[in-house]
Formats: sequence, structure tokens, C-alpha cells
Amino acid sequence: MSRTYVIDAGALFSTWTKRVHEGVFFTTTDVVDELRNRPSKFRADLLEVLDRLREEVPATDSIRAARRAAAETGDDSILSETDIDLIALAHSKSQEGMSIVLVSTDLAVLNTARHMGIETVDPSGKFKDDIKWALICPACNHRTAASKAGLECPVCGTPMRRRALKKSRK
Ligand SMILES: [Zn+2]
Repeated sequence: MSRTYVIDAGALFSTWTKRVHEGVFFTTTDVVDELRNRPSKFRADLLEVLDRLREEVPATDSIRAARRAAAETGDDSILSETDIDLIALAHSKSQEGMSIVLVSTDLAVLNTARHMGIETVDPSGKFKDDIKWALICPACNHRTAASKAGLECPVCGTPMRRRALKKSRK
């Protein structure tokens, strides 16, 4: 069985699709709408003409599953609706029994997808490991393992920032 890929705008901005000569790409309409840059829009149009790129809508159950997973990894505060739909689409396709790979350059998308057991590829090669987030106070450096962004520092009240605890392996 040939591979299928769920790809985001970042994957289409890169020339990654040109290096993959077999298999079908799936994405959402929102992702295609994000392509304002001409070479990537051209690549997407060409792939659609060749019937190698198809726009689909994720199942409602998969959207719920993606939101749940994003809440667990702490990525929910930065993932957009488009990101959630894309992860959900990968989940839908794997539920249909497809051998799916999610291709994205967004670390939060990759992290949540991996958490759901979805195979991932990062065309930029930056994502190597699961990310655990921590909140760090920019004023007093107080740290907490909580994953929700937007919390105030319990020591000094400054809004805390999210940092990756475990950096990618080189
Ligand atoms: Zn503080």
C-alpha cells in the first residue's frame, strides 16, 4: 500500500512535496487558502490537477480527539483551528486504516500528532523529540511544570511564558 500524507502550509511552502514522488497528499481547504506565496500555490494547484493533493474535512470525533490531545500536551494555547483540523484529518485517515504521515513544520502540530500516535515528518528537520513544556517567569525566572500559557507568576504576578523543557536532540 502506498503512503498517504497529511500536509500543512509549511510543507507546501517548502519544496518537500517535490521530493516525494509517490503517494497522495491530503490537506484541508483552510491550509490551501493560507497559500499566498506563488510558488507554493502553483505547487498545490499542480498536485491537485495530478490528483495527488485532495482537500478533505476531518471527522467531528477526530476534531474532539485532537483537542483532547492538544490539552494533554499543553499545545492547545497556541494551536489554531486550522492546526487542530489538520491533526484531526490525519487522525480521521488513520482511523480509516490508511498508513498516514503528518507533514508539518509547526512544532506544536508535530508534538500533538505524535502524542496521538500519528507518524510525523518535519521537512525543516528541526523536530526530533517530544516536547514537554514548562512556564517560566520572564521577570523572576520562577518555573512551573504547568503547561497552560497565560498563567501569572505565583511569586511576582508577571504573565509567564512557555518554554520547551526538553530541547530537540541534534
Ligand atoms: Zn515571577
